[in-house]
Amino acid sequence: MGLAKLRIECVIMLTTYFRSSSYNTFDNCQMQYFLNYVLGLEYRATLKATLGNVIHKALECLALQKKCQQEGLRVFNDDAFGKVKISECDPDCLIERSFDWHRKNFTHDDWDNSADLKFCRKYMHEALTFDGGRYDPRNRKVIEAEQRFDFEIEKSWAKYCYILPNGKKLEGNLSLKGTIDLITEVRPGVLEIIDWKTGKHRTNFATGKVKDFHGLMDDPQLRMYHYAAHQLYPEIKHIIMTIYYIQAGGPFTLPLGPEDFAKTEDMIKNQFERVQRVTRPQLNPAPPWSSRPNKFTNWKCVKKSGQPFCTYAKPSKHDPNKTECQFFRDMVNKIGIEKVTEKYGDIDKLTHYQDGGGKRAK
Ligand code: SF4
Repeated sequence: MGLAKLRIECVIMLTTYFRSSSYNTFDNCQMQYFLNYVLGLEYRATLKATLGNVIHKALECLALQKKCQQEGLRVFNDDAFGKVKISECDPDCLIERSFDWHRKNFTHDDWDNSADLKFCRKYMHEALTFDGGRYDPRNRKVIEAEQRFDFEIEKSWAKYCYILPNGKKLEGNLSLKGTIDLITEVRPGVLEIIDWKTGKHRTNFATGKVKDFHGLMDDPQLRMYHYAAHQLYPEIKHIIMTIYYIQAGGPFTLPLGPEDFAKTEDMIKNQFERVQRVTRPQLNPAPPWSSRPNKFTNWKCVKKSGQPFCTYAKPSKHDPNKTECQFFRDMVNKIGIEKVTEKYGDIDKLTHYQDGGGKRAK
């Protein structure tokens, strides 16, 4: 039976959109993808991820400060801080403000106020001062910070049609969604996108391989952002992609161009088809409750200390004797993925995503 027919006749792993995070999650663990992006169960960020967000927020505000200056404005609106006067945008003040805001809004057992703030301040300054301030948003012409995108891919391969067990039909085209950290103008007709990475390692989480220049050329996030940026700015012919590993090797600028769209689309198409073929999501890191546990890879589920690393390695609220991951694995085996999706998934959210607006890719 061909994939197109499968899509019509039964529900498989519903997918109506990709973000770079969902794309990567599928490679890392199919069950995590299913729980997070299909059923819509919350995945709680680690402290390290929250500290990365602290740095991102400070850099975002500095970019917005510059954009205001370019436009002769004195105040901008921030989704976390509300109205911010550009006169208050000193990097050290911003990092403290960002830290305090995240400290109040995100609960982690292992916050260390002094050391964590020091860490954030240090890496924010690394980003600002590298190569004489070349990547400091204040030294650039800022087009946008935290630019969101959300558009459907208008290609025949991107169409989906799912019939839920209750008879409801979901149909549309696969969407791409995401947020681009910083878009700057290098010169008229040339934009540079900068994506900050604050992690300690420059590795592919799924494979463990270090991302070198060639690996980055095939990086799904960069390719998706490059593709999306051309949808957002169709009049611009040259969009340069820079990924900046603040802690792990500095900036990498990639020569992606419009001639790369075909490969990017192929990559997305293949992943879309792979996801839709899944009827029993694999527990890729092989945790202790999987059929073939692997102690070398299951640190992605449970830490050496026995504490959960993955949110879904915590006790299930449906059955405290099992982890959430184990509970849903067993449910899928028992009643099938479609019934689990119908019973536990947020179908309205999936429908809503399908209806999401945004530009359409030609
Ligand atoms: S606990 Fe492990 S196997 Fe289960 S969803 Fe999380 S990463 Fe995947």
